[in-house]
Amino acid sequence: MIITLKKETPQEEIDRLIDQFEEKGLRVNIIQGINFNIFGLVGDTTQLDERIIQANEWVDTVQRIQVPYKLANRVFHPEDTIVDVAGIPVGGKEKIAMIAGPCAVEGDEIICEIAKEVKEAGASMLRGGAYKPRTSPYAFQGLGSEGIKYLNHARKETGLPVVSELMSVDKVDEFAEHVDLIQIGARNMQNFDLLKAVGHINKPILLKRGMSATIEEWIMCAEYILSNGNPNVILCERGIRTFENYTRNTLDLAVIPIIKEKTHLPIIIDPSHATGNWKLVKAMSLAAIAAGADGLIVEVHCHPEQAYSDGMQSLKPEKYKELVQEARLVARAVGRDL
Ligand code: PEP
Ligand code: MN
Repeated sequence: MIITLKKETPQEEIDRLIDQFEEKGLRVNIIQGINFNIFGLVGDTTQLDERIIQANEWVDTVQRIQVPYKLANRVFHPEDTIVDVAGIPVGGKEKIAMIAGPCAVEGDEIICEIAKEVKEAGASMLRGGAYKPRTSPYAFQGLGSEGIKYLNHARKETGLPVVSELMSVDKVDEFAEHVDLIQIGARNMQNFDLLKAVGHINKPILLKRGMSATIEEWIMCAEYILSNGNPNVILCERGIRTFENYTRNTLDLAVIPIIKEKTHLPIIIDPSHATGNWKLVKAMSLAAIAAGADGLIVEVHCHPEQAYSDGMQSLKPEKYKELVQEARLVARAVGRDL
């Protein structure tokens, strides 16, 4: 961290600041300029809040050199993290994880039917929300524990590991027991109590990017989970809000190489919520794999026109099958496979 102090800063204040940083275990290199005094702080500056330093009347500028995350940082963990989801590897250089299923679990029979269809098409995991974060309180809220039960039935029928969204801390035990990959949705990305709670368990966590979150804010949320003891974090880009409203969100594909450079965590793409339109899902899926994504999570429903939620962005199984076939070709072209 580089701190520039105003020229007229009293010597006592300079000494006080040096003591304050040294007490935190940092080394302070001082450059005495003509118009400024410059402090170069060496050591673990993740503990410092630059906005608090900036509050000092003698401080002119504060510039962070080191990013504020440690455990997610590729610098301290050069090799890719591969998260094992009930035997399915997510991350690394070889395999691409294919997660598919309905937005919401709507019943026992339908989730088992969709599970069989997506498995047949080539999916390696089944998604389905049992607790749904809906914009309207009048919209379908999910089947709750019943939904988790049906999801488990579908797992038993197909052998596919299951992915479902956790919305509150009081359901952590239920999810730890019955869900293979626990999703933290976009709306809860910065629910810090929830992040801490899933940090205390050992199950894989799928952390979706908040719709208005910067990349650094998102990585800091992963850092919450990692720093509470759970190393099994998978990131998921699901589109962000921009001025464009032709699509539901704007898919930020550039985050794939950025996340890969900045962190060692796997990143998957959700082209369904990112576009809100089933017609755009295949193209964005192929682009994501070409850009280096470690997986896709795609909404699939046997009868999208009757779906309780997100039917407009759900693929029919035959369309999903087509997507998988083309995804395999792109994966092979970039030295990977499904
Ligand atoms: C979902 O996966 O069904 C969902 C609600 O996603 P997001 O949190 O990305 O909106
Ligand atoms: Mn959905």
